[in-house]
Amino acid sequence: AKESGKNDCMLYSESWSNSSFERLKLQHEMYRAIQRNEFVLHYQPQYDLVSGKMVGVEALVRWKHPVRGLLSPGAFIPLAEESGMIVQIGDWVLREACRQNKEWQDAGLPPMPVSVNLSIRQFLQHDLASRIAEVLQTTGLEPKYLDLEITESMTIDIGHISRCLLAITDLGVGISVDDFGTGYSSFHYLKNFPIDRLKIDRSFVRDIQQDPSDAEIVAAIIAMAHNLNIQVIAEGVETEGQMEFLRKHQCDEMQGYFWSPPVPSENIAQMLKAG
Ligand code: C2E
Ligand code: CA
Ligand code: CA
Ligand code: CA
Repeated sequence: AKESGKNDCMLYSESWSNSSFERLKLQHEMYRAIQRNEFVLHYQPQYDLVSGKMVGVEALVRWKHPVRGLLSPGAFIPLAEESGMIVQIGDWVLREACRQNKEWQDAGLPPMPVSVNLSIRQFLQHDLASRIAEVLQTTGLEPKYLDLEITESMTIDIGHISRCLLAITDLGVGISVDDFGTGYSSFHYLKNFPIDRLKIDRSFVRDIQQDPSDAEIVAAIIAMAHNLNIQVIAEGVETEGQMEFLRKHQCDEMQGYFWSPPVPSENIAQMLKAG
């Protein structure tokens, strides 16, 4: 009984520290992280399924925490969303991704778009399109080399998002729907928003070969998107079999561990140099 009492106490204090103290601390540290330059972008290549060539990269943020080491977005993005810090982090990510892409181009590497993840919180800023225009202006990156990934959870105000997306596409920037098929509003998105590309969520790709209904769903998404003049990229491609399936069903692009995980910018420059 004594033993279990001690365990209960430890469990209690552990969950207490995770849920409030640790979170407050992390939130506080996040405020300083931008000034201290602790955020860093890794990039995951995107490949054309026919030519096998790298045709784009997705920027994925990491936090070089001075004590905890390299933190993946799952460890801090939810808290950043909740606290509103995602707006500042998102601004930094956008600027850094555009700057880096222009730097690659200036170094003579083959130009390709960089995809940046946008949070719903960023859409709630009324001046999002002009902020994006300013970043493109400042970094000198042509709009066609920027693609913004939005998720289906962004349904707060369809009218506002629709106007926002139109202003952004007017700049010449591309729009992708991320995690396609996981939300409740997939078709609503395609019908109401100016979408260039959809990303089939990893959860459908995973069992493409074992689960006949996943296979049907993926094939149907690709066919429908093409009828609507929308490009399709599959995410989370891990095996040759998955890649073959996607190729057979005329998916346009793929991204996943099968070809490359997200890597530091130096690695991307190396890959582009190697051709
Ligand atoms: P996401 O946008 O769906 O990004 C893809 C995630 O899947 C990345 O995780 C990537 O490392 C992982 N992944 C890629 N290929 C494979 C694969 O073949 N198999 C498996 N199992 N996983 C794969 P990561 O980098 O940990 O990012 C997680 C999420 O954090 C992202 O999901 C995105 O929602 C969010 N995120 C990352 N960077 C940013 C950002 O700058 N802003 C915002 N708002 N969200 C971000
Ligand atoms: Ca994404
Ligand atoms: Ca995704
Ligand atoms: Ca996903």
